[in-house]
Amino acid sequence: MTAFAQWIDSDYTPGDPDKVRNAPDKVDWMRCIPFIILHAGCFGVLWVGFSPVAAWTAVALYVVRMFAVTGIYHRYFSHKTYSTSRLGQFLLALWGATAVQRGALWWAYHHRHHHQHSDEPEDAHSPHVHGFWWSHIGWITSRRNFPTDYSKIKDLSKYPELVWLNRFDTAVPLVFAIALWVLGALLEKYAPGLGTNGWQMLVWGFFVSTTALFHGTSCINSMAHLMGKRRFKTNDDSRNSFILAIICLGEGWHNNHHRYQSSTRNGFYWWEIDLTYYGLKFLSWTGLIWGLKPVPQSVLEEAEREEHLASIAAAQRAVHAHPEFSSLKKVVPAAAAIAVATATAAQTTLPKRTERPPLHKNVPQQAGQTDTTSPRVM
Ligand SMILES: [Zn+2]
Ligand SMILES: [Zn+2]
Repeated sequence: MTAFAQWIDSDYTPGDPDKVRNAPDKVDWMRCIPFIILHAGCFGVLWVGFSPVAAWTAVALYVVRMFAVTGIYHRYFSHKTYSTSRLGQFLLALWGATAVQRGALWWAYHHRHHHQHSDEPEDAHSPHVHGFWWSHIGWITSRRNFPTDYSKIKDLSKYPELVWLNRFDTAVPLVFAIALWVLGALLEKYAPGLGTNGWQMLVWGFFVSTTALFHGTSCINSMAHLMGKRRFKTNDDSRNSFILAIICLGEGWHNNHHRYQSSTRNGFYWWEIDLTYYGLKFLSWTGLIWGLKPVPQSVLEEAEREEHLASIAAAQRAVHAHPEFSSLKKVVPAAAAIAVATATAAQTTLPKRTERPPLHKNVPQQAGQTDTTSPRVM
């Protein structure tokens, strides 16, 4: 009964929410039934079949809603890296809710907590503390992670419209799923050549796309602290990964982000592809958002310093790993010194042809200059 109430009203927590939050991790299977249905729904492709329009809808909705997670839930609600109006904020929250990753406030609360306790025991989804699978999927099934602590996100919880969307976080996904079914049914009627229908659109556009979106996003929790390179010496094990940056539209530059969270861009350089930032830049031209925050010069200088130190360390490691480099380093200058010394010595000991004594000169006379004891040769 409690689980059923929570499917509809996610703020319904019997007892003290603080107690629930501080209890040890425990999977709440009943509470997770909608999440299990989301995954099971993907098998619907066996019944509804395939059509290019349904598959492309799934791909497009993955991209559009990944942007909602990264550009809205993460870079706006969690970090406020740009500004918008109150209406703009509500529209963004609606867009974000179509990603089916609960309300913006729940998401932001957990994400800010992650930054405060990254890779420490308190971190709900650190792969270093809890292991890969728990950080990827397990943590959201745990009873203690369901409630939103509104007292920790007062800048957001002061807006009742946002609290409502957070509390009834199944409302938008439900409308979204029904809209996809209706779209499919309309296409079946008015564009039968496309070969789709309501159920097919629902399975591909909602179940398949949303499940892929969930696992794509979760890769940041599980993989972005394991895979890739570290540019900055942050107090966690966050990393920069090109592959994750493609899957998650720029969020793969996670070590950059852990170093400086207030910047709108996570890719600090032009070659660090950050599709979310490009999308936000585009949105800023429409007037919906403004005040995108740049990466400070001091952080970029720190990046250059770190790259420089890293290249020195890498060279030292290479010498250590390949002693022949070390011997070469000694042999080459020594060989050069010997070559120079030999050439110089040759110059001094071998007189130039013009300085040679004339052939007719008295040889003993010459010899006598150096060795008076030598027998004279007539
Ligand atoms: Zn992180
Ligand atoms: Zn963040």
